[in-house]
Amino acid sequence: MDKKKGKIFIVSTPIGNLGDITFRAIEILKKVSLIAVEDTRKSKILLNHYNIKTNLISYFEHNVKIRLPKLINRVSQGENIALISDAGTPGISDPGYRLVKEAIDNLIIVESIPGPSAFLSAITSSGLPTDRFIFEGFLPHKKGRLKKITKIKDQNATIIYYESPHRLVKTLKQCYAILGDRPAVVSRELTKIHEQIKRGTLSSLINYFDQKKIKGECVLLIGKNNDCKY
Ligand code: SAM
Repeated sequence: MDKKKGKIFIVSTPIGNLGDITFRAIEILKKVSLIAVEDTRKSKILLNHYNIKTNLISYFEHNVKIRLPKLINRVSQGENIALISDAGTPGISDPGYRLVKEAIDNLIIVESIPGPSAFLSAITSSGLPTDRFIFEGFLPHKKGRLKKITKIKDQNATIIYYESPHRLVKTLKQCYAILGDRPAVVSRELTKIHEQIKRGTLSSLINYFDQKKIKGECVLLIGKNNDCKY
């Protein structure tokens, strides 16, 4: 490994509650020369809270192509940089993995500074089995949703989806139509003031959330057919 090269730190940050960050994460965010962030305005709330004055550069889905070579170049020249996302662990349902892959291809050391991730908080508080789970991330917004849900139908595991509040009911209904009335949990606004963990079955969750104005980010978890119902 080239000793002159810098390192890339993949730093997990809170998913809501600003207190959920490790001492090591703060130390590294202060020490690196640059932090790549998805949305500078969102990250500044956290960074200001911890008095972190490190320079920021935006790195998100639509500028990956331009930013990637620049970031790799700076690290290759000896800079240490950190990658954070809007919430949780970079690389989980965001473009973080592209930077990691490119770094590895360029023989750059990548270090992960672990911390929160929405799906981990969601499954551990859901009451659904945690011994086997499948993290499906986001369903496609339009085409291919039913096909993706059908694919996991026979899996002997808890299924985890990330979902936006305005698509939640549509997803619940499509899952119910394909998977039947399984035990399910919606975890909303985790670690925030209005955290809600709504446990039930797909049909009871449809009844509960349909016609409601749903706010905040959601994780949907679906149990196996034979799991206990609440
Ligand atoms: N990197 C993040 C992680 O480690 O969880 C996920 C990023 S992804 C772009 C954003 C999605 O994560 C949201 O749409 C939602 O499904 C989920 N999420 C993030 N924060 C959450 C929270 N506080 N409560 C519930 N779900 C959350």
